[in-house]
Amino acid sequence: MQPLIPSRATFLGRPTKPSRLFVIHFIFSALANALLLINFGYWESRLLVERQSWRNSLTLVENQAATYKQERDLAQEDIAKKDARLADLDKQLSETTTQLASLNAQVKAQASQIAQNSAELQALRDRPPLFKFESATSRNVAQAKADVEDIVTKAYTEIQNIYGAPYILHQVTIKFVDALSIPGAVGEIEISNSAEGISITIKITDFNKTDSENVDTIIHEIIHAFHGISALNAPVTEEGITVATTDAVMGKLATQGTIQAFSPYVSLTDDEAANLNVSLGNPPGDSSFYNLPKETVQSYYELAGWSWQQIYQEDANFLKSFNEALYNKVSKGFSPTPAVVRTTIAEVKPAIRGMPTADWLATQVIFNPK
Ligand SMILES: [Zn+2]
Repeated sequence: MQPLIPSRATFLGRPTKPSRLFVIHFIFSALANALLLINFGYWESRLLVERQSWRNSLTLVENQAATYKQERDLAQEDIAKKDARLADLDKQLSETTTQLASLNAQVKAQASQIAQNSAELQALRDRPPLFKFESATSRNVAQAKADVEDIVTKAYTEIQNIYGAPYILHQVTIKFVDALSIPGAVGEIEISNSAEGISITIKITDFNKTDSENVDTIIHEIIHAFHGISALNAPVTEEGITVATTDAVMGKLATQGTIQAFSPYVSLTDDEAANLNVSLGNPPGDSSFYNLPKETVQSYYELAGWSWQQIYQEDANFLKSFNEALYNKVSKGFSPTPAVVRTTIAEVKPAIRGMPTADWLATQVIFNPK
């Protein structure tokens, strides 16, 4: 049996056979290597796992980042869209503001235009009409012209006192002619409209201021000219207010001594008027009225004059007030229809002959044309 630890000599000498220590060393060495390998493998695998885990984490983070980036891009896109929309709205607002300013300017311009028109209208109304006296006949009408000028000048003031200022009367021409186009007529009137207002030409064949019919004719036509384009739509109603006013003006001129005493055109009694209201019935509302038989037209003139006279007799300012109220409506675009006439009368005078105006007007055929 050899000692476990060889002697120095034995150890340094060449062993004749492998030492058991070598085997043990080999075994330990192999075990150690195996352990190291296992350890290495373990750490290696740990590292792989870790690396994979980090990779996964990194991928997650990267995905997250991509998602955030996408979200940011979307948000930026959204902001850009909103910015664009805002810019668009700004532009629209600016355009709307400009439009509004433009509209405001237009409204102001229109308002000032209206004020100007209204001022012009007032100026036209305030300016007295020009009177011209012409002759288109070879006859000597010098005396007739002097007579008509005298009557027209004096009557004009009285018409204004009773009827108010004319609507828009620019010029009145009184023209002497040889004949009138309507046989039997005593006067004819031509009306033309211009920027300066209404111009009328009254044609007559002769004139004598001592002849009541001559005087009546010229005043009657001038009173029509006062209404001009605001003449009442129903001829019978316009003729009625004209004959009633003519009688009133002639009454004033007779009192002054400008003309001699005359028989008024309107001379119906209450009973006669009541009977005519029944027998005549409602008149046509248009110019076909003038085509009715002459006697019927005459009766309507008298009845219409009587109806207006009833109102004027209760209030001397009625005709003036009625005309101003009517002109106010006409200047705003209202047509002087029978309904507008009735409403305007009622506004100016709420009761007539002890009755509410609307009720009384309903009993008068000339205020209710067909
Ligand atoms: Zn007439």
